Amino acid sequence: MNQWLKNVRLETGEIVHPNNRIETTTNLFHIEISPEGSILSIVDCSEEITSEHVTDMNGQLALPAFKEMHNHLDKTYLSLPWKACKPVQNLKERLDYEAQELVELSETIEQRACAMIEKILANGVNHIRTHINVDPYIGLKNLEGVVRALKKYEDYVTADIIAFPQHGLMRDNVPDLLRQALENGATMLGGLDPGGIDGDVENSLRLTMQIASEYNVDVDIHLHDGGYLGYYTIDKWLDLMEENAFKSRTDFSHSFGLGDVSVAEQKAIVKRLQKHDVHIMSTVPFNLGRVIPPIDLLTEHGVKVHFGCDGFYDSWSPYGSGDILGKVNSFADVTRKIDERGLRNSLGYITNHVTPLNNQGQQQWPNVGDEASFVFVPSSCSAEAVARLPKQRTVMNKGKFFQPLVVTC
Ligand SMILES: [Zn+2]
Repeated sequence: MNQWLKNVRLETGEIVHPNNRIETTTNLFHIEISPEGSILSIVDCSEEITSEHVTDMNGQLALPAFKEMHNHLDKTYLSLPWKACKPVQNLKERLDYEAQELVELSETIEQRACAMIEKILANGVNHIRTHINVDPYIGLKNLEGVVRALKKYEDYVTADIIAFPQHGLMRDNVPDLLRQALENGATMLGGLDPGGIDGDVENSLRLTMQIASEYNVDVDIHLHDGGYLGYYTIDKWLDLMEENAFKSRTDFSHSFGLGDVSVAEQKAIVKRLQKHDVHIMSTVPFNLGRVIPPIDLLTEHGVKVHFGCDGFYDSWSPYGSGDILGKVNSFADVTRKIDERGLRNSLGYITNHVTPLNNQGQQQWPNVGDEASFVFVPSSCSAEAVARLPKQRTVMNKGKFFQPLVVTC
């Protein structure tokens, strides 16, 4: 049976006041949804709805469901007794400590992943891109647990599951482990600092391209390597994309190197990123004191940027709430998006760039035929939601309201 959502607030346009202040306009609508989860009709709230299957949204604002585009479901301590991080001197020590913990933590993988999925979904998400360790210590154990956990939530969330060589690609039997991961539930291939971790940019990238091509999967590479090492790595990968006809099939996570070079060099590589449709995944870590990629410049030049919360409450950091809207809020705050358009456009970083209004303030979402996936918030418009971070969120994925499963795993 079709269902109706009554009294849903949708953005309809904008008013530019004589003093140049911009105001988003909204109205209330009723939305009809098919049993398959797509929008069948959107009608004015003055129309009478006679259906038995009606939910009154009481004037809450509908936003497109959020996308969490950089996460580690296997690393969290959520659902275990409290534990702060062990102090270390450098990245190598951090990785060594993680390796020591991996076997013990892998025993609780499914339970911890479920706890993290619930937290992320409750914040408004219906798609998670997660990087799962595939390494010589635990092989595919974390992957198998995460696949089981995601299966439990398949009504509410889709996922990109990335086979991630956290402890290096060019060592032990890792290339074969990654191949096995891609045969057992991983949907994408990851990578990690071909210079800083593998110490061999060209061969590490070539091996990554070889495995991705063998399995016909897209790639998302963690690139923390800064300065010209990071810049060179991206440039080299773009060469490989050209040689292998790999357009639109790569994203780079973090990409600090893009922030460390001159604006002229940024503009040069941005052209290549745009040409090959490479997207940048950022966790907007202003708190790390690093120069992050030039998100505004990338956006202005047509390179898509997406946000993620990264791993949280794990051996790397005791912090993090899993609130992806909070990431937009801190990005907008730090980069001084203080007017209506700047705020509401920022929402696109967590909605795969679908926003209710376009740049000119005209309505473009939702439309009949779209997936009925929403976040409902008690805000007057998306600019207010970004700036004021409503705590209350109700999530619907393809016509189904998210209900916590009160973790049984
Ligand atoms: Zn990461």
